[in-house]
Amino acid sequence: MIKLDELYSGKAKTVFRTDNPEKLIMEFRNSLTAFDGKKKSQAPKKGYYNAQISATLFRLIANNGIKTHFDSMLSETEMIVDSVDIIKIEVIVRNIAAGSITKKYPFNTREKLNPPILLFDYKSDEYGDPMINDDIALALGLATMEELSEIRTLALMINSILVKYMNDRNLLLPDFKLEFGRCKGSIVLADEISCDTCRFWDKTTGKSLDKDVFRFDKGNLVAAYREAAKRIVPAISL
Ligand code: UDP
Repeated sequence: MIKLDELYSGKAKTVFRTDNPEKLIMEFRNSLTAFDGKKKSQAPKKGYYNAQISATLFRLIANNGIKTHFDSMLSETEMIVDSVDIIKIEVIVRNIAAGSITKKYPFNTREKLNPPILLFDYKSDEYGDPMINDDIALALGLATMEELSEIRTLALMINSILVKYMNDRNLLLPDFKLEFGRCKGSIVLADEISCDTCRFWDKTTGKSLDKDVFRFDKGNLVAAYREAAKRIVPAISL
């Protein structure tokens, strides 16, 4: 596979075209941002840990019969993925109250949310990723009712798979964000699942092993991501 020109560069990943029009290369970088890009930093090996965690979780989800954009790893930080038409909805799944939901509603941090809460945000930097409902998604033409219903089912299935996997590794999964795309007539899981897009808490100590360490200056980010990778990725080289 030949890496061609850059297609898109986001806050933490860069996407490249390849000589195969159906495949892209997604590179996980060491940069990170929070609070709508207002807080910025770099962390060594962060791209590596996130790429390895994402690859492991995409394989796990695919093994459970759910289609994903993941193809294979080109290098330690570069993933070959199917080129998909991204649906501009950030799907948030919440199992335990943390972050914005505790500010907007009377939920206490660490309160269990059973059944899980599923939320949709409009993926738009310009509008600040506002929360939407089905009617807004339909009116904006983001997805059809059938697609929204399938996304909901897939997100809850993925949640069950991930909660069990993390629990077996002494981790809690309070919440995470998913993105989906359209590819060859199917809805497929896309983007990443990593310490940047999930909250991971140590089950014993309750400590954050995710981007909250950066958001709220809770300590050493690289050490936290390394610990998450150590538990999630079998045989990772640290
Ligand atoms: N999240 C994300 N990208 C976003 C917004 C949220 O990956 O643009 C993830 C975030 O890492 C967390 C979950 O979605 O695991 C819920 O985030 P929340 O809405 O609480 O955001 P916060 O205000 O706490 O950053």
